Amino acid sequence: MQRVHHIGIAVENLETAVATYQAFLDDVEIEYEEVPSQKVKVAVIPLGDSRLEFLQPTSPDSPIAGFIEKRGQGIQHICIEVNDINEALKKLEEKGYKLIDKEPREGAMGMKIAFVHPKSTGGVLLELSQKK
Ligand code: ZN
Repeated sequence: MQRVHHIGIAVENLETAVATYQAFLDDVEIEYEEVPSQKVKVAVIPLGDSRLEFLQPTSPDSPIAGFIEKRGQGIQHICIEVNDINEALKKLEEKGYKLIDKEPREGAMGMKIAFVHPKSTGGVLLELSQKK
C-alpha cells in the first residue's frame, strides 16, 4: 500500500496551530512528541487514514527554524508511506533522484523515514516512510 501518510506543516507555535484546526474538526485526539534528532516538537492530528503533522522548532538551528525564516510558516513536506523504504530509496537513487537521506532514520510516530530533495520532486520536499 502506498498513501499520503501525512502532510508536514512548519509552525512557530504548536498550540496556536493546533487550536486553529481544532476549531472545525470534531473529536480529534492530538498526539504530541519530541524528535530530538530533528530538533522539533511535533503535534499530530489524525484525519481518517492520514494526518496533519505540525512541526515547531526547538532550536534556532533546527531545519524547521531555517524553513520558517526563509519561507514563513506553511506546508513543509509531504510524506508518502511505502512498503519497503530501502527498496524505494534504492530505486530513486538509481534513477538519479537527489536523496537527503540515503539510509532511513528514526522519524516521528515510530516510523522509519528518509527525505528526498525538492530539486528532484518538482519543488516538494518528499518524506518517505515505512512502519517499523
Ligand atoms: Zn513528516
